[in-house]
Amino acid sequence: MSKVITITAGHSNTDSGAVNGSDRESDIAQDMRNIVAHYLRAAGISVRTDGEGKGNASLNEAVKLIKGSAIAVEFHCNAGPKTAKGVEALAQPKDKLISQKLCSAVSSVMGSVIRGDKGWKPENSGQHSRLAYVSNGGIILELFFISNDDELKIWKDKKWLVGKAVAEVLANYAT
Ligand SMILES: [Zn+2]
Repeated sequence: MSKVITITAGHSNTDSGAVNGSDRESDIAQDMRNIVAHYLRAAGISVRTDGEGKGNASLNEAVKLIKGSAIAVEFHCNAGPKTAKGVEALAQPKDKLISQKLCSAVSSVMGSVIRGDKGWKPENSGQHSRLAYVSNGGIILELFFISNDDELKIWKDKKWLVGKAVAEVLANYAT
């Protein structure tokens, strides 16, 4: 029997996160969660999510899903100056290697720079002050910078391929 993988979308239906024009971080995170869930379920893996479709539960609810899962990943976008770019994952040291593999998967599709220690950053290094997700054992995957127009365009063109690559890393971890 395979283990359970938890994947959740950052922010919520009432908190859009970072914004670039009409593009909202919460929508991108939902999209990614739905795509990764699709591929994992197609591979026969048990998946827990913080909602389906447009559903996106609050951080409090998402944190409760972590316990009992083999791995838990929440999707976010970074934001910063227009030139800031790249992928990174915030996680506890126990999840350093899988964090690096997730970043490598995103980078391999998007052609993006890998930030931090081959993608990994400890939980106290992010711009997100609310890292309850990490302190409870989950991984925050900052897919790209929503504030970077080039990365945003690449994401829109390639999101299904990004989701597939990330799902493959998670599927290998869980089986
Ligand atoms: Zn965020």
